[in-house]
Amino acid sequence: MYDLVIIGGGPAGLTAAIYAIRLGLKTVMLEKELVGGQIALSDIIENYPGFPSISGAGLMEHFEAHAKGLGLEILMREVSEIQTKDKSIVLKTTDGDMETKTVLVATGAKPRRLGAAGEVEFTGKGVSYCATCDGPFFKGLSVLVVGGGDTALKEAVYLSKIAAKVYIVHRRDEFRGEKIQQDRAEAADNIEFLRSHALKEISGDMVVKEAVLEDLKTGESKTIAVDGAFIFVGITPTTGFVEAEKDEQGFIKTNQNMETNIPGLFAAGDCRTTPLLQVATAVGDGAIAAYKAADYIAELE
Ligand code: NAP
Repeated sequence: MYDLVIIGGGPAGLTAAIYAIRLGLKTVMLEKELVGGQIALSDIIENYPGFPSISGAGLMEHFEAHAKGLGLEILMREVSEIQTKDKSIVLKTTDGDMETKTVLVATGAKPRRLGAAGEVEFTGKGVSYCATCDGPFFKGLSVLVVGGGDTALKEAVYLSKIAAKVYIVHRRDEFRGEKIQQDRAEAADNIEFLRSHALKEISGDMVVKEAVLEDLKTGESKTIAVDGAFIFVGITPTTGFVEAEKDEQGFIKTNQNMETNIPGLFAAGDCRTTPLLQVATAVGDGAIAAYKAADYIAELE
């Protein structure tokens, strides 16, 4: 039986692994896609202490190497269910059941869909949720970015260095993202802001050709020619398989010890209700979760 099974290999999970192994816990990590998590898709990180400017993938390589250097075992498996028993937890996975004393859910969050007409149909044919992955396909072309948070602003600036023209379509006049990201977007001469606008439809033939926008102040519609549409309208936590108490958006509720309402089940990082979704905060969550999991096991015994 394991002491701790960590579900998810992003910053929270990898930090928890480093702390858990150093605390002497028999630990394993389960990951279904990519060790490093969503942040590994980020072009550049400028607010993780000690690294003034580093790619998301580069930073996560350091985390992974550190955890593996301590002997972390990582298995590529997906968890479908968490069953609590008397003094243990059983995980139903794609490769059989696993029994453990504690579990840390560190599954992060995924980009949310906007719900515009044509969005699903043109995903991968001009509609994208990842500028680092797909931006290079739009060299010298015209793209629009939907959203007004840090992701939309940051990725618009990244895209402005590749594409000839970038439109930022945001439903309000005010932006939610950090002032520094807004200033950078405003300073780029090929970014045009379409405030108080909504993307209604994406159309084309084999690939995206046009976008229909609505001016939310006048109600008027207009069509612009674009080759791509990048959607950054927030995130949805990957918590469908977790039965613990959640908020209305599906983020897992924890106390300050990262404990959920289920004994032995912890949550850390972007999948839990938290005021800040950052690598720095995920790291803190992961460290606390491992430390408190060790406490919990000591009490069990
Ligand atoms: P976010 O902060 O939740 O922003 C989502 C944006 O999408 C908001 O501007 C929102 O508009 C808009 N939106 C939501 N639903 C919409 C809809 N149906 N139609 C049109 N617009 C819609 O999400 P995020 O930008 O992905 O950021 C997620 C978290 O990661 C945040 O905590 C953010 O600070 C953090 N992050 C930080 C950095 C960094 O470098 N520091 C970079 C990326 C992300 P309203 O504003 O009108 O609600």
